Amino acid sequence: MSNKVLVLPGDGIGPEIVAEAVKVLDVLATEFDLDINLDNGLIGGAAIDATGNPLPDETLKNARYADAILLGAVGGPKWESLDIAIRPEKGLLKIRSELDLFANLRPALTAPQLVEASALRSEVVSGLDIMIVRELTGGIYFGQPRGIRELENGEKQGFNTLIYSESEIRRIGHVAFEAAMKRDRRVCSIDKANVLEATELWRDVMDEVAKDYPDVELSHMYVDNAAMQLVRTPKQFDVMVTTNMFGDILSDLASMLTGSIGMLPSASLDKEGKGMYEPIHGSAPDIAGQNIANPLATILSVAMMLRYSLGEEKQAERVEQAVDAVLTAGYRTPDIYSEGEGMRKVGTIEMGDAVVAALKG
Ligand code: NAD
Repeated sequence: MSNKVLVLPGDGIGPEIVAEAVKVLDVLATEFDLDINLDNGLIGGAAIDATGNPLPDETLKNARYADAILLGAVGGPKWESLDIAIRPEKGLLKIRSELDLFANLRPALTAPQLVEASALRSEVVSGLDIMIVRELTGGIYFGQPRGIRELENGEKQGFNTLIYSESEIRRIGHVAFEAAMKRDRRVCSIDKANVLEATELWRDVMDEVAKDYPDVELSHMYVDNAAMQLVRTPKQFDVMVTTNMFGDILSDLASMLTGSIGMLPSASLDKEGKGMYEPIHGSAPDIAGQNIANPLATILSVAMMLRYSLGEEKQAERVEQAVDAVLTAGYRTPDIYSEGEGMRKVGTIEMGDAVVAALKG
């Protein structure tokens, strides 16, 4: 039976980068027998404009029915004045929680061809290969109560709740340890157990989970130190596992080690391995519509989708090898461009075309 993939381009650069990723899927279908059926849907600001809802029922229904979802990004200045409850980002949070996509895998890999594009010295980042495992459906982004209230003295007060249950921590812990088993067998759990009770529990549960994986070494680190260590000696990490908000921030930080946020894919998985795949960056309204966004994070998200949800390891490798080949050939979107022999500055469409050409060999 053919694999059903729901494509949600979203806002800003979303449609531009997703178009390139779809080109890649089309070539795999026509030239390499990938059995795939693509359907399109609305999410985020585009969905608000069309229906008034950042996650229309039809999108959610089709997402439940799909084997995997490919997402661009959501949000932008046009919708920032809306009530927070119906902003584009709510559509994204809702689809993650409705589908129970609790495990967010964010690999941060420095391609050897892009070592020079990193903000850090090449010896610090060369060979970097970290897997950040971020809890995605709990923590402060979802915790209740939340809101902005007015105090008796008339002053406004904003509040959110950081909340984690043992079972939520345990299941993300298992994902991290399983990932480590396929890698260098080291897990570093990131928390703020010295000040936040919710992450004190997080630490205790991680220690418990570790007992099931005697071959994996577990260490703990406070998030402030982890941010510093990621810039100082990032290669000390193998798998990092952390809460929703800490993972959000640390993975953006890690992206700059690899050269550009435009290079990093992600997978958000449920307990069965069904998933949503998206670049880690946002809708980049500052560069939307200019044909300069880097589509490689989205194309690499397609590779993750083929591997994790569609069981198509060979096709995933094809995509990763094609991306490797275009980088070696010197193709660079502006975010990863640096002057040098053989470097070719290209736009979004040309980068997608180059990957397609590399796939076709
Ligand atoms: P952003 O990730 O969109 O952009 C940050 C910076 O990185 C910008 O300078 C942008 O031009 C650059 N950048 C991002 N992706 C790029 C790419 N593929 N190629 C080249 N450069 C790229 O973050 P932001 O500016 O903080 O947020 C913009 C909007 O995106 C906001 O509305 C925010 O809420 C939303 N957002 C959405 C998601 C998501 O959909 N998953 C994630 C983060 C932010």
